[in-house]
Amino acid sequence: MKDDLLSIIIPAFNEEENIPVTSKVVLEIMSEAEIPCELIFVSDGSKDKTFAKILEQSQKNPQVRGIEFSRNFGKEAAIRAGLAKAKGDCAVVIDCDLQHPPETIVEMYKQWKNGYEIVEGIKNSRGDETFIHKMFAGIFYKTLSFLTGFDMENTSDFKLLDRKVVDILLDMPERKTFFRAMSFWVGFKTCQVTYDVAERAFGTTKWSFIKLVRYAISNIVSFSTKPLALVNYMGVISLFAGSILAIQTFLRWVLGKASEGFTTVLLLLLILGGGILLGLGLVGTYISAIYEEIKCRPRYLIRLDTDVISENQE
Ligand code: UDP
Ligand code: MG
Repeated sequence: MKDDLLSIIIPAFNEEENIPVTSKVVLEIMSEAEIPCELIFVSDGSKDKTFAKILEQSQKNPQVRGIEFSRNFGKEAAIRAGLAKAKGDCAVVIDCDLQHPPETIVEMYKQWKNGYEIVEGIKNSRGDETFIHKMFAGIFYKTLSFLTGFDMENTSDFKLLDRKVVDILLDMPERKTFFRAMSFWVGFKTCQVTYDVAERAFGTTKWSFIKLVRYAISNIVSFSTKPLALVNYMGVISLFAGSILAIQTFLRWVLGKASEGFTTVLLLLLILGGGILLGLGLVGTYISAIYEEIKCRPRYLIRLDTDVISENQE
């Protein structure tokens, strides 16, 4: 059965209560379905006892492994670190709070066995998210689907990847990754499995509104350059409008009806100024993204590793 190992990657940020539950529930479901698996918890610089709990689980059961980051590097970095550590022939990424139903992994694994190289988890419903959250998520995915040309609506990080795809993702040199969209970009034989978002088992969501907005902007910038073209369009439109206005003013002047409009001038200045600042800001956002990439800093730093700890104990 060596060729069938499934790595289950679980990013965890301040999830001390969820570690024992998630680990138990997932392992039970996998053993019932007779799926050989390993659990890889990545504690993303947690401030609570998350890593201690991971270590406890790993000492009880060698199927459980885990690492701890030196600080909070974000979920994307945690997913990548998990993929890098995975030994499986396929890997699935799942949230630590049991919002992604682990039973769905069994279905995903079956599809992988049927020859699919990527199995996307698609949300049926968005669970107990607030109206505002659902609305922003809707706008974000519509924009993203438009900009990237992939239908990304209701997608999530809950997906299973074949070893081939995992290796390709790990080989990609960019620092700023967007896991959800990368699996679309690589292509491969893909199928979808739908699931209902469950309620969070313990604790609260780790995303504040500001963090989500930043995440949205950074993902759009890292995945599409179309917004830059928008600056050009804005320039063309305002130039066109300006020219029309100039012609009209000139004609009125010829007809002896020179327009006196301090307010018009002010308004125009404000609108143009706003447009120029927005354009500059947009260009700046891309330059800062390039700057971050070009520094080539490591994507994350590992402070502790259960494999190393158990080796030292032997
Ligand atoms: N997470 C992480 N690093 C972060 C924020 C979140 O590893 O900086 C993990 C978190 O522990 C969870 C998953 O990402 O396993 C999804 O986070 P959360 O449940 O807070 O997001 P939501 O389900 O509310 O979108
Ligand atoms: Mg959650």
